[in-house]
Parts: sequence; C-alpha cells; structure tokens
Amino acid sequence: MSTSSSSERELPDLPETPDTTGAYPRLTDEQMMLLSQYGERKRLTKGSTLFCEGDRDCGLFVVLDGRVRVVQENAPEGESRVIAVHGRGRFVGDLSILTGQAVYVTAVAQTDVEVLELSYERLKEAVTQDQALGDLILRAFILRRNIHADLGAGLRIIGSRYSAATRMLRDFASRNRIPCRWEDVEEDPEAEATLRAFDIPPDQTPVVIWKGQTILRNPSTTELAELLGLRAAPSRAAYDLVVVGAGPGGLAAAVYAASEGLSTVVVDAFATGGQAATSSQIENYLGFPAGITGSELADRAVVQARKFGAVFNIPGEATALTQADGYHAVSLAEGDDLIAHAVLVATGVHYRRLDIPGMDRLEGSSVYYAATEFEARLCRQDPVTVVGGGNSAGQAACFLARRSPVVNLVIRHDDLGRDMSRYLADRVEQSPRITVWRHSEVCELIGDEALDEVLLHDLHTDQKQPVATTALFVLIGAAPHTSWLKGQIPLDAKGFVLTGPAADSHDGMFETSRQGVFAVGDVRSGSVKRVASAVGEGSVAIRQVHEFLEAEGRR
Ligand SMILES: Cc1cc2nc3c(=O)[nH]c(=O)nc-3n(C[C@H](O)[C@H](O)[C@H](O)COP(=O)(O)OP(=O)(O)OC[C@H]3O[C@@H](n4cnc5c(N)ncnc54)[C@H](O)[C@@H]3O)c2cc1C
Repeated sequence: MSTSSSSERELPDLPETPDTTGAYPRLTDEQMMLLSQYGERKRLTKGSTLFCEGDRDCGLFVVLDGRVRVVQENAPEGESRVIAVHGRGRFVGDLSILTGQAVYVTAVAQTDVEVLELSYERLKEAVTQDQALGDLILRAFILRRNIHADLGAGLRIIGSRYSAATRMLRDFASRNRIPCRWEDVEEDPEAEATLRAFDIPPDQTPVVIWKGQTILRNPSTTELAELLGLRAAPSRAAYDLVVVGAGPGGLAAAVYAASEGLSTVVVDAFATGGQAATSSQIENYLGFPAGITGSELADRAVVQARKFGAVFNIPGEATALTQADGYHAVSLAEGDDLIAHAVLVATGVHYRRLDIPGMDRLEGSSVYYAATEFEARLCRQDPVTVVGGGNSAGQAACFLARRSPVVNLVIRHDDLGRDMSRYLADRVEQSPRITVWRHSEVCELIGDEALDEVLLHDLHTDQKQPVATTALFVLIGAAPHTSWLKGQIPLDAKGFVLTGPAADSHDGMFETSRQGVFAVGDVRSGSVKRVASAVGEGSVAIRQVHEFLEAEGRR
C-alpha cells in the first residue's frame, strides 16, 4: 500500500455508491469484529492510495471511517473515472487478491480514512471462521470483475478487427476474465492518435497498454500473462502432481489434490475453465438451480484451488510427456519442463473446423468456436450463423439471440431434438429470432477481410443460397487434445486416452497404462461429456493418485 499523499488531486467528497447488484455489500458489525482480529488498523490522509492498478499481492481493505473511491485509470475520456465510492462497513478489493494476479483498478482515500487491512493469508484464515462472509466477499469480487469488464477497465488492446493477433490477445484476455478495452484501428480515431503519440508503426500492432505506460508491441499471450501475473515460476523440485488442463476435470483434481496436501501445479494451454468457461449458462450442474455461468464456475474453482495451495501456470501448453529416473516430465511449449511423481491429463476436447472454401481467409476475423459475452459483444446487432445440432450449438443460438436480431442455426438432419436436449430444442423453436435451416450445411464463406455471407447448401434439393452473416459459430463435434501424448500413452481409435481395464491398468479406473499417469474428463475414452462428470472424475482420481504415491513410497 502506498501512503504517498496526492493532496493536489481534486477529490470532491462524492456520496457512497448504492449497492444495486450485490457487488458492494456492507458488512455487519459481527463480520467487522471478526475481521478486526485478523487485520491491521490504519489511518490514511485524503488522497492516499490504497492500491494502484497493476499492483500485485494487495490486501482487502475494510472502511472503518471516511470514504474510499475506486477509479479506472485512463478511461476512454483520457481521465480517471470513478467506479464506486465506499463508506463505513464496505470493503475495497478486487478478485485479483484471491487469484494472485495484478489488480485492474486503483483505490484512493476520498477523505481522511481509517481502514482495516487484511493480507490474502489473513483473509483466508478469517473466512474459515465464517463461511457466509467468505462467500459474500467472493461473490462481490466476481460481480465487480464483471462491472470492470463492462467498463473496459484494465488493459488497452489496440489493433485491427481483421488481425488474427489482435483477436488472439482479446480472446486470451476474455477467456481469462481479464478486464480490457479494445480500440479498433479500423474505426476508432482515438486508437490511431495513441499509436501516433507513442510512435508505433502499423506493423508493430496489436499493442497492449498497461497502466497507461507499459507498452507491449505485438506480444505473445505468454508475454501478456507474465505482465499480469498469470504464470508462476516453475519449481525446480518435483511436484507431487502436475495437472495438465484447467477445465472442470483438472480444476476439481487440483482442489482435491492441494486440499489433501499434495504439491500441485496446474497448466493450461490457454485459460482456466476449459470448455465449460465458454458456456453462457450451465443449467444442469448440481446445486445451481438457476444455472451458473461457466466463467463464474471457473473463477470460483480457481480461487478454491489456490486457497489450498495449488499453483497455476497459464499459458502452459504441454507438448510432450516423458519419463526419466522414476519421474514424469511434462514439456511446455513456453520452454519449461515440469517434473512430477504423478501426472493427471485433463486436456479435454476442441471443436472441429469446417474444411470449406473461405475458412482459411476468414477464420481469424469471423469464425468462433464458443459463444460467450465476448463474442456476443463483437457481434452486436448483426446477423450470425451457428453450425451444429448438439446442446452447445443450441445454447449458443439461444444466447446469441439475446443480442442479434437474426440467428441462423444450421443442422444437417431434419430433427432438432435428435442430438439436442428437449428443453433446448423447445427454446430454439420458440425463439422468433432463430431460424433453423434443416438438412443444410454451410459450404462456403463469402467476404474479403470479414465475413459478409455464408453459402448454405440444401442437402435435399441441392440448391445453394447465400445468407447474410457477420459471424460464424462452429460447434460441430469434438476431437481430443491428445497429439502431445502420441507414442507415449495408448489412445483409442478416435484419439481419446485409454484408462483402467481398457489400458490394462489394474490400479483403478483413471490410470493409463503408464503408472502414475491418470486421465479424467472429456479426454478420457468412454467418458460422459459433461461438467459434472469431469468434476466427479477429477475428484475421484485423486484417491488413486494417493494410492499410487503411497505404494511407491513417495508419500
Ligand atoms: C459451449 C459449451 C457449452 C457447454 N454446456 C454444458 C452444460 O451446460 N452442461 C454440461 O454438463 N456440459 C456442458 N458442456 C460440456 C462441458 O463443458 C465439458 O464436458 C467439460 O468442460 C469437460 O471438462 P474437461 O475438464 O474434461 O475438459 P475441458 O473443459 O475441455 O478442458 C480442457 C482444458 O485443457 C486445456 N488443454 C488442451 N490441450 C492442452 C495441452 N496440450 N496443454 C495444456 N492444456 C491443454 C484446454 O485449453 C482446456 O482448458 C459445454 C461445452 C461447451 C463447449
């Protein structure tokens, strides 16, 4: 915490922001009393900074007296913008406190204040005494993160809508729930002016601007992750367990492994949450009768795994699995090797590409393999097309129809209910915004730099018809992420990992033919492709990891 006073700053005493969404709850006297046993009381003068955008390892602040304001630095208007003002009984902080990343906003004492400061470790201790308090804080932080994302606080990404590199950075930020603001050089004069001001030629875009000053020119996702604290330095000593893949299966395994005392590192090629985090609403996961967004489920799981000591390394793409001196080694594309006694493979599946004319040219700018808030914002009010007849295609069509006036859903057969749950098929059929194109397939993408139309082929009449579309969502069946395991672990004919009896393993359902290497979730041959089953498998597999470590005398 910086206590440097900036009294020259204009700080009119704004009223407290009302709590209309649950993002800014007020603590009860009992909760404040509890936290006071774990925190340190501090008096700060007006203008002092509690934490600054970009700071790491900041604590939680409870306002005891006076008012604190949270601001977005470098808002689009070029000045800092007040996001919220907190008075007595409210707490100030960001989800990053719990995930160990940099914070994306700044907090300043609006008046002379008295606050209670709690470090992450002390906060963890405090909330074990009051579960409801822990949940209140986590929920508020997740809601605040959504508010910050909507405001475009945090990173600035400047690049062209037609650039695949820009799309990759935006996608990376979105999938990792990092608030950011994108400025399109094609139509935003502000973007053009910023590039000129920093003397950045077009061939060095996209650029990332962080804290108004740090500039990364055409960075890789790894460079961006390092800037934001998503990559932990790997340990030189062997871990008990390396979890490869941070979807529901890997996250569940990480929670159970770390909570039972195994030193655990989790790597993921792209983001935490896996496919589930791309789901706009998961309605069949036990305990969430109103549904839960995939991104909230992922955030909660990451916070939970980290609470027990699991370490995350994102991006960390496994490229090979080898064995030497009784240890397993997972090689990463980013350059490090992770050594462990046991490895849990939870790399899931990815959606297949459509191999049709125009795909190579337009995939980077106009083709999507998930439908989240991020993609929905991009599509704005435009007509879109979804390809696929399964539940993920149905969910995507319903979700996109909330914003797009025209959603085309293209299926190859006649019966929408064949591969889609009945409740979803009903919703699709009842939506006035969704047109279902039965017995049809997309056979060509039309457009120069961005998609203008798709060519639909009617499989009954053999007629072809152009349909206006600015974005294509391809959700047509999945292939496993197992190319990195080829030649190391037996796979089935479709490339899924064999485990248990099918792999001649006698040590349980999730062990592969290689002792100490386990596989769970969608990547496992014969698994049920659902969030709940991946979570169940990830949790149960840890029992088998324990048994293996004990049998080997490593625990
Ligand atoms: C849009 C959509 C909606 C869905 N909705 C529902 C629903 O409502 N209910 C439901 O039950 N199921 C739903 N599903 C299915 C569900 O999300 C999956 O069954 C579940 O996510 C599988 O979890 P997993 O951990 O096995 O794998 P995944 O979620 O696929 O996660 C695998 C992770 O591994 C990472 N990875 C891949 N290769 C590597 C590598 N070489 N190195 C490191 N990391 C790697 C990936 O980046 C990914 O993050 C939906 C799926 C989608 C796509």
